[in-house]
Amino acid sequence: MSKGTINVSVENIFPLIKKFLYSDHEIFLRELISNATDATVKLKHLINIGEAKVEYGKPMIEVKIDKENKKLHIIDQGLGMTKEEIEKYINEIAFSGAEEFLEKYKDESGDDKGIIGHFGLGFYSAFMVAERVEIISKSFKEEPAVHWECDGSPKYTTKKSDRTERGTEIILHIADDSTEFLEEARINELLSKYNKFMPIPIKFGTKEVNLPLPEDAKEDAKPEKKTIDNIINNPKPAWTKQPSDLKAEDYKSFYKELYPMQFEDPLFHIHLNVDYPFNLTGILYFPKMTNDAVNAQKDKIQLYQNQVFVTDNVEGIVPEFLTMLRGVIDSPDIPLNVSRSYLQADGAVKKISSYITRKVADKLKNLFNSNREDFEKKWNDIKIVIEYGMLSEEKFFDKAQAFALYPTVDNTYFTLEEFKEKIKAAQTDKDDKLVILYASNKDEQHSYIEAAKEKGYEVLFLDSPIVSHLIQKLETSEENISFVRVDGDHIDNLIKKDEEQISKLNDEEKESLKTLLTEMIPQDKFSVQLEAMDSKANPFIITQPEFMRRMKEMQQTGGGGGMFGMGNMPDMYNLVVNTNNELIGEILSTKTAKKKERLVNQALDLARLSQNLLKGEELTTFIKRSFEMIK
Ligand code: ADP
Ligand code: MG
Repeated sequence: MSKGTINVSVENIFPLIKKFLYSDHEIFLRELISNATDATVKLKHLINIGEAKVEYGKPMIEVKIDKENKKLHIIDQGLGMTKEEIEKYINEIAFSGAEEFLEKYKDESGDDKGIIGHFGLGFYSAFMVAERVEIISKSFKEEPAVHWECDGSPKYTTKKSDRTERGTEIILHIADDSTEFLEEARINELLSKYNKFMPIPIKFGTKEVNLPLPEDAKEDAKPEKKTIDNIINNPKPAWTKQPSDLKAEDYKSFYKELYPMQFEDPLFHIHLNVDYPFNLTGILYFPKMTNDAVNAQKDKIQLYQNQVFVTDNVEGIVPEFLTMLRGVIDSPDIPLNVSRSYLQADGAVKKISSYITRKVADKLKNLFNSNREDFEKKWNDIKIVIEYGMLSEEKFFDKAQAFALYPTVDNTYFTLEEFKEKIKAAQTDKDDKLVILYASNKDEQHSYIEAAKEKGYEVLFLDSPIVSHLIQKLETSEENISFVRVDGDHIDNLIKKDEEQISKLNDEEKESLKTLLTEMIPQDKFSVQLEAMDSKANPFIITQPEFMRRMKEMQQTGGGGGMFGMGNMPDMYNLVVNTNNELIGEILSTKTAKKKERLVNQALDLARLSQNLLKGEELTTFIKRSFEMIK
């Protein structure tokens, strides 16, 4: 037996490491299994190039719990280590690596530990959970096996071992504060979190399976049972394969493998595959997305590095609007033991992010071009991602012009270009501006939609929560168009034409109507606006000016009109009074003040009702008054 002291400047770095990476202790298992995987893959390589003349066989990695003796074993059949190699790779390199790691990151702010902790500690992360670690290893190079032991101080011992199988066994003597790692359920959880798609089969325990019954089995025959290795991973996940080798079904079943709790199929997928100027593979899925699920869906893309799970928080790596998607990204080129702010500034990561954006845009364009009908069917479920992307990524905005859809209230889908062409003749106003009418709620804005249709206008149906931001952006990027919601004003005012409506009232009558209405209508809620309109149009119409409403909405959904400070302003409405409607004449000619008031109140309430503004006590009063009037 020989003893040695590891040559490091810090006397005992393990307590430090333990403290530093407190929340990330569980990564030790991923690190050790990664090493076991590396050792196996390296051996295969050496055999392939003729440097190792041994049988590769069917190697696997085994994880074993010995609860009684408080031990956890990780066993591989890889290339193993000689005594000299342990001294070099474990005592020197791994140890100094850990020390260097600590030096570098001990000053980082707490928020960023998430990503810093992901890689870099390697073998020594074992000491975060173990008070003593043993390595028993037999190199493929015909040397006697070695047995190394260390208790976390820089002192270690090595001696000969009688192990005969090639490979390495790591034995962790689990510390008293880490006994959770002796629980089968906890280890299972970790294996399926970090190692589910690692390239070498990982065995954890055994399981019983039923053998198939023989052909001539009796009806009540029980199948024979057989005990087999319980392999917890899929060593060849879909994203590591060529797209040409996969069918639609394979993509769907891989989605199920990734998200076993998801019962709905994804709408479509995008297979990422690039090796220059960076390495990246992966599969992204568009799930069905509803307007309110935006936040709930975040953090569903998983980031891997060479099939080792790293994180499901891809913020900074994937453009924010795509974090609503699901799937896998695997890249060895994403620097992981750095802080997020550094990550976002990293050139390679920026390239990756714009590559992904471009791929997504290309795929959407492709789907649109190859099967527009199907794309239209899916639009409602994907629009939130696309609209969000148009708002947040300039390049995506440009590309999306080709496939972003604008449905009408009657469910016909147009691109913006097509729609502009369609309405050009009817909806260009006297100032040569193209006015695009839209509704956000078909029921609540029904009467306004009808009024617009009667004029022969088209009305878009735009109901996403971020639509006010989007139309604001479209107005600034396109020339001479403006969006107005159908209830923004009376239809003749929304699209102003040159023709002048003749007023039935003379100036004197207008004046007395104005005085009358200012007395009866609450000035703090409505600003009265007299208009000579079509006599068939309603006498009272409540509208809400586009600009005000839009700014308010933008502020509610973040950003935009914040500077206007309108968040707390009460809603202000216009009351458009159609002076050409017969009822107005009747109000004016009615003799008694009481009757006048009743007519005005009734008309006002009906207008409010059509905007869904009549509630509570006012609604009760209205109903009472209405019954009175039909009596
Ligand atoms: P890294 O894996 O980044 O090189 P580690 O600290 O995890 O750093 O491991 C240090 C070195 O120890 C490895 O590079 C490898 O040479 C050796 N090693 C660790 N585990 C094994 C193993 N199971 N089989 C063979 N060699 C190993
Ligand atoms: Mg390692």
